[in-house]
Amino acid sequence: MQKVLPFTKEKIIEIAQEYPTPFYLYDEAAIRQNARRLLSAFAWADSFKEYFAVKAAPNPYLLKMLHEEGFGADCSSLPELLLAQKAGIIGEDIMLTSNNTPVEEFAKALELGAIINLDDISHIDFLETHLHLPKTISFRYNPGSLREGNAIIGKPEEAKYGLTKEQIMTAYPIVKAKGCETFGLHTMIASNELNLDYFVETAEMIFELVGQLHDEMGITISFVNFGGGIGIPYRPEQEPVDLALLGQRIKVSYERLILGKHLPPLKICLECGRMITGPYGYLVTKAIHYKNIYKNYIGVDASMANLMRPGMYGAYHHITVLGKEHLPCDKTYDVVGSLCENCDKFAIDRQLPAIETGDYLVIHDTGAHGHAMGFNYNGKLRSAELLLKPDGSVALIRRAETIDDLFATLDFNNL
Ligand SMILES: *Cc1c(COP(=O)(O)O)cnc(C)c1O
Repeated sequence: MQKVLPFTKEKIIEIAQEYPTPFYLYDEAAIRQNARRLLSAFAWADSFKEYFAVKAAPNPYLLKMLHEEGFGADCSSLPELLLAQKAGIIGEDIMLTSNNTPVEEFAKALELGAIINLDDISHIDFLETHLHLPKTISFRYNPGSLREGNAIIGKPEEAKYGLTKEQIMTAYPIVKAKGCETFGLHTMIASNELNLDYFVETAEMIFELVGQLHDEMGITISFVNFGGGIGIPYRPEQEPVDLALLGQRIKVSYERLILGKHLPPLKICLECGRMITGPYGYLVTKAIHYKNIYKNYIGVDASMANLMRPGMYGAYHHITVLGKEHLPCDKTYDVVGSLCENCDKFAIDRQLPAIETGDYLVIHDTGAHGHAMGFNYNGKLRSAELLLKPDGSVALIRRAETIDDLFATLDFNNL
């Protein structure tokens, strides 16, 4: 996938006069178009629902935009539930897929009428003891050694999430006996996966389990949730998952494993984050230093505190030097931030055009798990988030942090 930008250097210079770098910029038109692409891929499925994974981009303006397109919210903490609520998302448009869940979080989910997706069999008792069981309940399945994992999430056997196969088979009869009436089945075993077959296999695994629960335990599952984890082409040589084909392949499996076996119809759900906003967010930063020692370094005004993925996972993020798109990439740089951590590098040994201080660098594919993973180590401040509207105007959807924000939890008067 060729990396193209929805803005020019002139536009960024104009924006930077009002909002200093670094900042995140999200492309509203492209996010909406992408949301529609996903919905149309699953248009065959009655009442298909995508619950956007709030943790990927926890900004209420983005949540509201996606809600307008018909998405719900997948939450896994109390603040995420509150953000969904603020964005106007309530009731069964929220799915709580949390783990090691504190009681306050379950309480808020019950109050909002959210669908609760339990991560463990012991949470049945936990809910009953502290609160109450809702009429609708879902469980997260961890297939263990029955499935191989992928690089980011690891082997299902080693993952802390979900119930075992045996626990799944016993959990539903337990909650049914306790008065629950509507049942869901969830799994999520991949992250940033580009192989379409992997998701088809996951769907088939879940459809088969739905059949088994029906035939062996007399349990009727009403909705299934295949989680998130659809990857994006971070590297120019990668291709995105063909959503239309994914929808068609899952349809074929559904017809064979659900309709073909005369099982009751299922509502199909996803909770993707990365593939929804990821490719349509950009971290814009400015080169402030050039350093030549054993290697060549370009120091920028963003750091790993603004974007953790390269430092934490060694993740590749494409970089464009604005206004130099057509120059040869004949220099080799490490592009670095200012943390006192040597992993604070956005790129290592990257071939780029010659960079001068003052150049704007755009770090691609940062619309998910980007700003969200920001932190304050070394006293670094989180940047602003901006929305590029379809009419070309720009809206501030989160201001940059200030030093006062950073110190807000300190009381200097008692020193
Ligand atoms: C992180 C997460 C998601 C979203 O994953 P993406 O890779 O952003 O699609 C969905 N569901 C759960 C339970 C998650 O933890």
